[in-house]
Formats: sequence, structure tokens, C-alpha cells
Amino acid sequence: MSSVTGAKRQRRYAMTVDTRLCVGCKACVLACKAENAVPDGLCRDWVVEETRGEFPALSMEIRSERCNHCTEAPCVANCPTGASHVNEGGAVLVTHYKCSGCKACIAACPYEARFVHPDGYVDKCTFCLHRVKKGGQPACVSICPTATLTFGDANDPASAVSSQLASRRSKVLHPESGADPNLHFLL
Ligand code: SF4
Ligand code: SF4
Ligand code: SF4
Repeated sequence: MSSVTGAKRQRRYAMTVDTRLCVGCKACVLACKAENAVPDGLCRDWVVEETRGEFPALSMEIRSERCNHCTEAPCVANCPTGASHVNEGGAVLVTHYKCSGCKACIAACPYEARFVHPDGYVDKCTFCLHRVKKGGQPACVSICPTATLTFGDANDPASAVSSQLASRRSKVLHPESGADPNLHFLL
């Protein structure tokens, strides 16, 4: 008989984006650029403003978007060199020196989350794993003035992301892709 007592639970890092709180200030974009030395003209996160309906029944959704650190990541499955890989907590990273710059991962990503760094490798959001490993939060989460962004372990029922996902309506983008994304938009 198997027992789960003492078994180590796998972490699943996820982020929620509260579309009711986001004001589109783009502080998250600037904080990421500064934290990760993202070159001019490129970004690892971005803000989308979507207007729906017809006047006067208009509504607007503002979304801070980034790599979804997909559970079934097509970028990892399509990378021929192993540069794209799954790291701690399911975060999807790129090992720069292993990247040939072939762009197969860019073509495979349903979220347009990747870009070619001027140094020749493909780059994208890392969930600021270097900060998270030291007990910190991703730079975008730390800077957001409206607490729109929450980062944590979706496999921990006591985490803030888990309780938000249990108590709020939410959606993911491109669910049809089968990528099983871990960026959730609270509605
Ligand atoms: Fe939205 Fe926060 Fe980013 Fe501003 S910093 S755009 S409020 S997620
Ligand atoms: Fe890969 Fe794109 Fe998913 Fe990020 S959003 S893990 S780059 S497929
Ligand atoms: Fe892998 Fe780099 Fe090719 Fe992307 S560009 S598929 S990370 S080798």
C-alpha cells in the first residue's frame, strides 16, 4: 500500500493577473527591463488593452502578459538542443550557451513570449527565478502599485494564487493550444 505521508509535493509556479485591478501603467514592464537588463526595443512582459462591445456598452480589459511557463510547453518540446527546459517549480527557462538561435521555439510558442536577444540566443520571462530562489518575488509583482500580480505555488492549497483561483472566475489565453499555461487572468 502506498502512502503520501512525507512525500515531497511538486511545486507548480503560477501567476495571477487581476484584470479588475490593472491600470495599464506598465511599471511591470519597466521593472522587468531593469531587473533583467532587457535590451532596448525588446521586452519580457507587456500590457494589452482590449476593448469589447459597441458604444455605449463598452468594456475594457487590461492584461499584463508574459511567458505562461506552460506545463506542456511546446517551446521545450520543439527545441532541438535542450536549451529550452523545465526548471524549478515548472518554470521554463533557456540555457543561453546551448541555444543555437534556430527559432523553432519562437514558432512553437502560442503566446509570442520569446524574442532573439542581440547576443544570439532566445530570451523570455524567467518568472525571475533568481529572485524567487532567494525567497523574493518576480520584479513585476514587487513593483505593481495596484497588487494586480500574484506569484506563487499553485500546488500549495494555502498559497495566495491557489485561493484566488478557487474563489474567483479566471481564464487563460489560448486554452485550445493544449500548452496548459500557468498565467491566469482573474475576471
Ligand atoms: Fe498593470 Fe500592475 Fe503592470 Fe501597472 S504594474 S500595468 S497595474 S500589472
Ligand atoms: Fe514556452 Fe511560450 Fe509557453 Fe512560455 S508561453 S512556456 S515560451 S510555449
Ligand atoms: Fe532551442 Fe534556441 Fe532553437 Fe529556441 S532558438 S528552439 S531555445 S536552440
